[in-house]
Amino acid sequence: AVVTRFAPSPTGFLHLGGARTALFNWLFARHHGGKFLLRIEDTDRARSTQPAIDAILAGMRWLGLHWDDDAVFQFARADRHAEVAHQMVASGHAYRCYMTQDEIAAQREAAQAAKQPLRIRSPWRDRSDGPENASFVVRLRAPQDGATTIDDQVQGSVTVQNAELDDLVLLRSDGTPTYMLAVVVDDHDMGVTHVIRGDDHLNNAFRQLPIYRANGWPEPVYAHIPLIHGSDGAKLSKRHGAVGIEAYRNELGILPEALDNYLLRLGWGHGDAEIISRDEAVEWFDLGAVGKSPSRFDLKKLEHLNGHYIREADDARLAALVADRLGGDVDVALLTAAMPALKPRAANLNELADGTAFLFAQRPLPIDEAAAPLLAGDAPAILASLHAALDAVDDWDTEALEAAVRGVAEERGVKLGQAAQPLRAALTGRKTSPGIFDVLALLGRSESLGRIADRMA
Ligand code: GLU
Repeated sequence: AVVTRFAPSPTGFLHLGGARTALFNWLFARHHGGKFLLRIEDTDRARSTQPAIDAILAGMRWLGLHWDDDAVFQFARADRHAEVAHQMVASGHAYRCYMTQDEIAAQREAAQAAKQPLRIRSPWRDRSDGPENASFVVRLRAPQDGATTIDDQVQGSVTVQNAELDDLVLLRSDGTPTYMLAVVVDDHDMGVTHVIRGDDHLNNAFRQLPIYRANGWPEPVYAHIPLIHGSDGAKLSKRHGAVGIEAYRNELGILPEALDNYLLRLGWGHGDAEIISRDEAVEWFDLGAVGKSPSRFDLKKLEHLNGHYIREADDARLAALVADRLGGDVDVALLTAAMPALKPRAANLNELADGTAFLFAQRPLPIDEAAAPLLAGDAPAILASLHAALDAVDDWDTEALEAAVRGVAEERGVKLGQAAQPLRAALTGRKTSPGIFDVLALLGRSESLGRIADRMA
């Protein structure tokens, strides 16, 4: 059975690239009816923080990327990692290296002088007469001949000459495991069958595979996915705007299903489908359709999808999200009733929240600069006629309201817009708003008539 995992280092928030890696792992596992596991790689004690862990878990829950079993914390498994290193020494696949700092520095200088990358060659690889009570690191006895080939599901077949790899450290002199050892032991113990991660880890795969082989463990299938770049083609960073998931949720007002759909389409495709539901994604996802080149992040496209998902979203859910944004004690029933009129116009929750301003504005309404001209000229006279006609409406519903406004336009020999625009300005203080009959219906009779009266001749 398929087992995937997401293995973030909690040294920062959950960023877009990490979220996409998690999404691909989640989808691959679900597609195959397998498991999706979470491992928090918190071995960098100085840089790992609880707020970062919380943010990662919250971000994954928000995106609907629920993991199976309990999250695994890597640091807590340090004894197990060390145990494996010692077993590898016992079986001859690793050795104790007593090289001193000076000896290592000498190799570094020699490599620099020869303009060669540093590859530590330890004399202890072939010696078993180590000094007693001296400190040592445990190094992998890595293969030096031949080559290692990885048949990567995204990158294709990639080969590295073993002579280019050195005997990497598995256990430091203080007995703590290195990252390379911890990742392999954890992936093995968690039963991970498919390692899907950013292609910045491809080089690591060549250092991790020998650890599997030395232990006689089944090797995982690798899929290294290209990183996300900014619109200018450079690796995505703060300079391109928000990279943390929370900013999309909080500041930018993006719905999680829109971000999921966007991240899925970024670097993966299914024909020309743009709008892809969760179920479709699970049904269609495969590693073969992941592109090899980096994809560019485009906020406009994300907002386009977000607009779609806002229009599809349940009104009560949207009203609750908007109420949160407005922060105060707002009439959620009124907000819910307003959503059908407001939804078609919003690309994000901020625009949606902003569109509700007229519902809660106090008389006399502040009038936007752009709307002020709409209340000049014969507007006050038109508003007086509208007041009379609307006051006479029996049932305050959009049909009757539309008939009344149309009647005034006809009677005064003007186009509907010439009556609707001053009415809009009087009712909302703005030049643009939802449909004017919806606005009247939402505000109700007495508030509508009051706002019109404030601006009429
Ligand atoms: N902790 C690593 C990272 O956050 C991921 C390691 C892995 O996926 O193997 O980049």
